[in-house]
Amino acid sequence: MSIVVLQLPDVKRKTEVRPRKCHYCQGETFQRWGGVRKPVRDSQYRSVQPYRYRCCNCQRTFRHYPAGVARADQTQRLRKLAAIYWVLGLSLRGVAIALTPFGIKLSHMTVWRDLQAQTEQLEKQRRWQPVRVLGLDGAYVQGWDKRKHPVLVAVNLGWSQPVAIGYIDEYNPQAVRRFLEPLVQRLGVSVVVTDDLASFRSVTQKLGVEHQVCQFHVRRWVGRTLRELKETVPKDWEWILVEIKSLLEELPPEGSRRLYELWKQIPERRVGQGQPLSPLSQVRALLLRLSEHWPSYRVFDWDKDVPWTNNGTEQVIGRMKMRSRTVRGYKSWSGMHAALTLAGSGLAW
Ligand SMILES: [Zn+2]
Repeated sequence: MSIVVLQLPDVKRKTEVRPRKCHYCQGETFQRWGGVRKPVRDSQYRSVQPYRYRCCNCQRTFRHYPAGVARADQTQRLRKLAAIYWVLGLSLRGVAIALTPFGIKLSHMTVWRDLQAQTEQLEKQRRWQPVRVLGLDGAYVQGWDKRKHPVLVAVNLGWSQPVAIGYIDEYNPQAVRRFLEPLVQRLGVSVVVTDDLASFRSVTQKLGVEHQVCQFHVRRWVGRTLRELKETVPKDWEWILVEIKSLLEELPPEGSRRLYELWKQIPERRVGQGQPLSPLSQVRALLLRLSEHWPSYRVFDWDKDVPWTNNGTEQVIGRMKMRSRTVRGYKSWSGMHAALTLAGSGLAW
């Protein structure tokens, strides 16, 4: 159960604070030309009083607005209030109706444009906050499940906040790279945490960032593979399966070398084309794969900021999904994008 804390931006009717810089030329000395009355749409005020200033340097005039007000008629407080209503489950028309007790008339299209503007603004803000450890995971979102693939969500694991959302096929390395590369460059990411998909592995290698693979995922698929192999490998080789299991539980630094030694101990058997691999050949393939991937299993051991599972990402996604469940507007990607971004931002919680 979330506790709703409405923190709305403050709106001032007037400001006595003078502008610091000219909007046009960066000049710093002005003449005040008096106040003007600007009608606004707000939960409290009908109008505010910006001042007009003339720049002594370039002679141009501009308006200097009080806090919470910009060029648009809607104040920042009203925009946020509308976004909260929407995230809490009202339709665009419902938001417009809910604002009428405040004496405010807004069209549902204005509500929609404001929601998108806020989504963009949130994303822009996040693009300037450095992220050292980034979690990535796919999310199946209610109302969107019928689509071909999940939504990919990138999470700042330092602050447990979503950073970016993309409608991207996580199995396609080119698509993952197009999503991840600008994030890595802009945010200065040094470690990416994911589950065990090959696409994530190849992209992190190409981008030159460290890769921590979620150990819950690895244990799950390796455990399943080992149980299946136990039924089929010759009894005198069963000890290898036991050793693989304990290596994965302990994740020692020398694990990669040890797995490689085990790999060398199993004789290679050539099989004809199209024939299935023998159980022992399957063990060899498993040993080689684990040995090669070993460094990506244990970044957390030498970098204390890195978690050993991707649970943190899954929790953030779960929170976003829960909070955006009520939002109407999943029919379009922009609607869902706005819903997940605004709901995940801690906008109203
Ligand atoms: Zn100027």
